[in-house]
Amino acid sequence: MRASNLYAPTLRNTPAEAEIVSHQLMYRAGMIRKVAGGMYTFLPLGWRVIRKIEQIIREEMDAAGGQEVMMPILQPGELWQESGRWAAYGAEMMRIKDRHGRDFCLGPTHEEMITDLVRDELHSYKQLPVMLYQIQDKFRDERRPRFGLMRSREFIMKDLYSFDKDPDGMMVSYQKMYDAYSKIYTRMGLTFRAVEADSGAIGGGHSHEFTVLADAGESNIAYCTQCEYAASDEKAELKPEATADEAAQPLEKVATPGTNTIESLCNFLHIPADKTIKAVAYETDQDELVLVFIRGDHDVNETKVLNHVEGALELRMADEDVIRAAGGCPGFMGPIGIQKGTHVFVDASVMNVHNGVTGANEKDVHYKNVNPQRDFDTDAIVVDDFRMVKEGDPCPHCGAPMKMTRGIEAGQVFALGTKYSAAMGATFLNEQGKEQPLWMGCYGIGVGRTMAAAIEQSNDKDGIVWPRAIAPFEVVVAVVNAKKDDQLAYGEAVYKECQAAGLDTLLDDRKERAGVKFKDCDLIGYPLRVTIGPKAVEEGTIEIKVRKTGEVIMCSRAEYLAKVQELLETL
Ligand code: ATP
Ligand code: MG
Repeated sequence: MRASNLYAPTLRNTPAEAEIVSHQLMYRAGMIRKVAGGMYTFLPLGWRVIRKIEQIIREEMDAAGGQEVMMPILQPGELWQESGRWAAYGAEMMRIKDRHGRDFCLGPTHEEMITDLVRDELHSYKQLPVMLYQIQDKFRDERRPRFGLMRSREFIMKDLYSFDKDPDGMMVSYQKMYDAYSKIYTRMGLTFRAVEADSGAIGGGHSHEFTVLADAGESNIAYCTQCEYAASDEKAELKPEATADEAAQPLEKVATPGTNTIESLCNFLHIPADKTIKAVAYETDQDELVLVFIRGDHDVNETKVLNHVEGALELRMADEDVIRAAGGCPGFMGPIGIQKGTHVFVDASVMNVHNGVTGANEKDVHYKNVNPQRDFDTDAIVVDDFRMVKEGDPCPHCGAPMKMTRGIEAGQVFALGTKYSAAMGATFLNEQGKEQPLWMGCYGIGVGRTMAAAIEQSNDKDGIVWPRAIAPFEVVVAVVNAKKDDQLAYGEAVYKECQAAGLDTLLDDRKERAGVKFKDCDLIGYPLRVTIGPKAVEEGTIEIKVRKTGEVIMCSRAEYLAKVQELLETL
């Protein structure tokens, strides 16, 4: 490819709406253009990156036993009615009607359609396991589309679905995909972690998110400094914190005027926050009240709360009147005296508090000397882990302190179990001739988000620094002055040699000033630049510049190609 023919309009200035560096750089490097909120066109350079990412994914899916298919984007609503997700998916689903008024959606994911595909023809255990995948546009009407390709409304996803005869088989498929994902992100040259994840509304049990480490990431990850444990903050398990033993004092009410925050309460009573038990009141999307009690120095993990309320998908802060109707007093709430039948969730660390303080469900009054083991009605409460992890919390596996980092969820693997097969009647006959639901897994990779994540992880003030495997071109041969025929001819010859050696090469033959061209090369981020100027023509000296390190190497015509190949091996 010649840059003189390449449609790659670069910009010197950053578009105002691009909030994060990957979005800014993709825009400036002429890789994407916006159509509407959360919708983008890929220009030739951006599309080359996408194609390379897809190719790596395809190779590893095939190597792991996956077979590529292509399902329609448009999906009949009836399939989603069968699984129960037509209602559950909510506003994120793009819904349309056909001319007969029948419901359809633009696929946000394909569990329903693939289950429908196999339920008629996968009849016997002898046909299992099966793994089918596609690479295709998905549609989600995100509440806040933002950050360019990171959270868009139309985006490319690889989605694979596995079918097995039993839970062990499902976990073998899961492990194959886990390993394939590790290879994919390693081959792409990305620093990542496979973190234990909450499986959310999609259902099922076991799940990992493949997370590319970068500050712009929306995922908070807790990881152990000693062992392999890593988990999203939503999922990170926490053991109850122990506190030093004390003799229990008699329960007592105290006047605490105006102390409706933990800080004011601690100041008023001169106690540390870990002696207090605070309340957070939620209502679910089904209007059920949920009161969560947690130590004053801890934070509630809403995902863990949601997982304890059957059928609930979302939480909102509870209305004060609803709290009062259940016997609570906003700002002075405690578990003692709450109406029976209300969801009262108590974090396990609370149960280890001795002589603590909690609200008395009366304005300006608290209880002191609260000993939850003694004072709480344990039949009326649910004690479990409802806490959000923080830096320094002990690892649930080995007890070493955990650290927090940010990452971008680029892919996710789920062991689904029989959620969809059971709901949709996708069964097979096992060795004993008994009808059983298929054991499924689903495995997604966001292709565009992976591209954005790679840029977030690897860039500098001049532009993108691509890992070789997914760079739009591996090498750019830049002719310093393309108006000079001898330089251009020399550049053409070098370009052809690189191509003949199998390198993915661009010839920058534009009749622009050298400074402009070099700036573009840095902005677009080709891993190596081979510069052809007067020195090449006159002395046969070729300059190679490594984008990542800035290192410049001078070579003879005879040596340069081997050097280029050697350098690429390291990038
Ligand atoms: P998120 O929690 O970020 O909304 P998700 O968990 O809903 O994502 P999955 O259903 O697991 O997403 O989809 C598989 C992959 O598709 C994700 O790991 C991510 O890389 C990608 N993806 C999901 N939503 C978007 C989006 N709106 N824009 C771009 N990529 C997306
Ligand atoms: Mg996900």
